[in-house]
Amino acid sequence: TSRQRITVLGATGSVGKSTLDILSRNPECFEVVALVAHSNVEELAAQARRVRAQVAVIARADLHDALKTALAGSGIEAAAGEAAVLEAVERPCDMVVGAIVGAAGLKPTYAALRAGRSLALANKECLVCAGDLFMAQVHATGATLLPVDSEHSAVFQVFERDNADQIEKVVLTASGGPFRQASLEAMASVTPEQALKHPNWDMGSRITIDSATMMNKGFEVIEAFHLFPLTADQLDILVHPQSVIHGMVQYRDGSLLAQLGSPDMRTPIAHCLAWPRRIEVPVERLDLARIASLSFEAPDPVRFPALPLARVAMESGPVATASLNAADEVAVAAFLERRIGFLDIPAAVAAVVERMSAGSSGSVSSIDDVLAVDAQARAFCREWIAGR
Ligand code: NDP
Ligand code: MG
Repeated sequence: TSRQRITVLGATGSVGKSTLDILSRNPECFEVVALVAHSNVEELAAQARRVRAQVAVIARADLHDALKTALAGSGIEAAAGEAAVLEAVERPCDMVVGAIVGAAGLKPTYAALRAGRSLALANKECLVCAGDLFMAQVHATGATLLPVDSEHSAVFQVFERDNADQIEKVVLTASGGPFRQASLEAMASVTPEQALKHPNWDMGSRITIDSATMMNKGFEVIEAFHLFPLTADQLDILVHPQSVIHGMVQYRDGSLLAQLGSPDMRTPIAHCLAWPRRIEVPVERLDLARIASLSFEAPDPVRFPALPLARVAMESGPVATASLNAADEVAVAAFLERRIGFLDIPAAVAAVVERMSAGSSGSVSSIDDVLAVDAQARAFCREWIAGR
């Protein structure tokens, strides 16, 4: 059989590096078309050489010469700038891995779908900000959309399509993050260093902070709502500190099907890359006898107001969800720069979503419309932060 041709958006990030690990271990299965990053020229060039990519693309146009220098003599093309990123997803390939962080991934990921590519989606902000548009595009082109996010990969793996009408509920598990047991008083004064210490997963900084506020789980409810044929009240969150069970589907006959695995993104990534087959992945195997016990608890909406905030935004519609993400991106960056406190993150997001929802007609019919909402919400969030 011929090799699968893969393009990776966000190759130099946490998900991107895990993806490159799978690709480089399985050269007989995969060949790499394009690798895309934002500013990390050295890592991008090293990756491109390692997997012999056709082209490496750096989104920052000012880094074109640096990338050319880093790739000199390799025979690999060096491209730069946003137009080059959009061109890269149009190169023929079998699957695009969408692993850019944030709303920055909207345009290139959407362009991949428009070009009819199968998409392995990690960049959940695409579905949070523009789920209706992305899913309409998936249906229009008949493209395959596979979830990389571990909870959604878990649900996908135990979701019986033929029994979708027999599903009672879907459960997304959450580790609870580093402040699972912290009081609100304690959370008010946590530092970026404390918030960046995730108990189970090693991830990029934005999603690590979102896990600490549990905004990430709120985003994941919205993501699941778009990915699977479910109503909002069929989506449950369960705190499970060991991160062994990633997701579950409960059927009307009383069966609760779960997917388990080590907290290593290479498993869900490989599931997408090899789907519908499976390939060998060298992750640590679960030693359940050693783990001995799994525990569960209900999420606390009082200490983690991001959870109800995300649900309300989801029910309100695309202006609210795009604002939710945009405000969160700005607020998380401000927290990491020590300009606001930890609890200011959900407070800022709540204020921005409310202000955006009050002044909008609610209609969003293109990615440009979404980016306009995104820009306005960012401006409101910067204002809120300045007024602290
Ligand atoms: P990282 O911050 O580690 O990596 C982000 C990647 O996106 C980098 O390659 C970065 O390039 C690139 N990038 C950023 N902006 C742009 C841009 N404008 N154009 C092109 N590339 C850009 O993030 P993660 O890997 O942690 O997360 C990626 C996505 O996957 C997020 O949406 C996250 O929510 C989701 N996800 C991540 C998980 C994880 O385990 N990390 C788990 C589940 C979902 P550069 O390095 O050059 O800056
Ligand atoms: Mg997840």
